[in-house]
Amino acid sequence: MREENSNSVPRSIPDRVDAVILGGGLSGLLLARQLRQEVPDLSVAVLERMRRPLPDACHKVGESSVSLGSQYLEKLKLTEYLLEEQIVKMGLRFFPGGGHLPLHERTEIGPSAEPVVRSYQLDRGKFEGDLRAFAEEDGVHLVEGAKVTEADLIEEKGSEADHSVSYELDGETRSMNARWVVDATGRNALMRRKLKLTRGVQHKANAGWFRVRGDIDMNEMVPRSEVEWFERPLGAERWRSTNHFMGVGYWAWIIPLSTDFTSIGLVVHEHVHGHECISSYEKMMDFLREHEPQLAAFLEPHEPQDYLCLRNYSNSVGRAWSPNRWAMVGEAGAFVDPLYSPGTDFIALANSFTTQVILEDRKGGCLDTKADNPAIAAPVIGKDVGAGTEFEVLPAVAAENIGHRARCHRITKPGDGVEAVIGCRIGAEAAQDGNIERWSDIAVTRGSIDTEQHPVG
Ligand SMILES: Cc1cc2nc3c(=O)[nH]c(=O)nc-3n(C[C@H](O)[C@H](O)[C@H](O)COP(=O)(O)OP(=O)(O)OC[C@H]3O[C@@H](n4cnc5c(N)ncnc54)[C@H](O)[C@@H]3O)c2cc1C
Repeated sequence: MREENSNSVPRSIPDRVDAVILGGGLSGLLLARQLRQEVPDLSVAVLERMRRPLPDACHKVGESSVSLGSQYLEKLKLTEYLLEEQIVKMGLRFFPGGGHLPLHERTEIGPSAEPVVRSYQLDRGKFEGDLRAFAEEDGVHLVEGAKVTEADLIEEKGSEADHSVSYELDGETRSMNARWVVDATGRNALMRRKLKLTRGVQHKANAGWFRVRGDIDMNEMVPRSEVEWFERPLGAERWRSTNHFMGVGYWAWIIPLSTDFTSIGLVVHEHVHGHECISSYEKMMDFLREHEPQLAAFLEPHEPQDYLCLRNYSNSVGRAWSPNRWAMVGEAGAFVDPLYSPGTDFIALANSFTTQVILEDRKGGCLDTKADNPAIAAPVIGKDVGAGTEFEVLPAVAAENIGHRARCHRITKPGDGVEAVIGCRIGAEAAQDGNIERWSDIAVTRGSIDTEQHPVG
């Protein structure tokens, strides 16, 4: 399935296409696939600076998907691939309350049955390598080793002229013209920076992460004598969940990857812990030793294969779609917080909306009414609510397109204030039969918790 050789320069690189996507990460490659499927006569190029082969596991952060994003991947005809090559996830699992109780005595929130709406744990190196090979099979002009240096956008309203993109390939400067330019350069955010459209959010958080070799089964943190822990429904399958260890102002994740690696990460809220605690692997482990001693002791013998961190990762965007035929998708647009793994959901929403706007343009429709809509131009806003982050997903048009509604559960302990805020998406069928408890991919398996429901979608 995996494309192993670098195959970096396609036989002929067109100097004009209908849509050029800057950056071939998750959002760019999925958009290229969606466009080839939904607008088959559209010529599509992806300019990506990194060449294959991509490493397993130690590539990018963003490995846990939830139901909305996963259904998007399935809609793009990736189901068979995902079932064979990635891990079917056992939903999200949360251990709030800080790490000073033995694990089996902490509140556990997670699925007690195999979630009906499937989701996946994604090895990003493997997935992006495979998506590149699929893109080539789909007729996408994938140019690897192409570093985009400039996007000259035509900003006169109503102009039919092409945009022009400059890029460097093998020491040569080249250009490509296109009717549509979509920025998918992730945190490089080429167009957002150029157009000065970056907007701040109140939420200030930082993260550090690394991968270790082998499977990590957190059940090994609990003595076999704790029979009740092992007998909880699907207790043996905890390892397939995205496991969250949460305390005031922080949470740590464990995510299994299909290539025999495990991803470990820590998110800290700036106003509680500051960014120093994620500035290196050693600092992150010191933090875990203090706040999650059991988890730290469990991880200690596993050698880190990489270490990366990001400070202040949240931002919003002034505009992500323009009637002048440009768009921003993935982290090149807005990104607020990884709690509840919504990154692929937002890619699904942004890519689907971009596809709709391009289709509208093909039909000769008026883009102003679609793309010039402030509610759509700022797709994601996040609101800091103490220990967690509450999300609002605004583009109802795009959400409806995928057939989902979204909800947040605010989890509180009486008198203690907010302990965690957990998003919960409900599958299309759930929306139809209205049976939220049955279809939700989060269920409380233990502990008495007040849950307040906040419809947000
Ligand atoms: C701490 C943290 C945890 C996260 N966890 C999750 C999670 O569990 N699940 C989830 O769904 N999401 C998660 N996310 C979000 C996730 O990382 C993003 O949703 C996803 O990686 C965004 O994909 P992208 O394609 O926008 O960006 P990227 O994957 O970064 O792709 C951008 C691509 O553009 C290329 N590029 C950049 N500049 C240029 C240039 N000038 N020329 C050519 N190419 C260029 C890069 O090489 C790269 O391949 C997390 C984010 C953070 C910060």
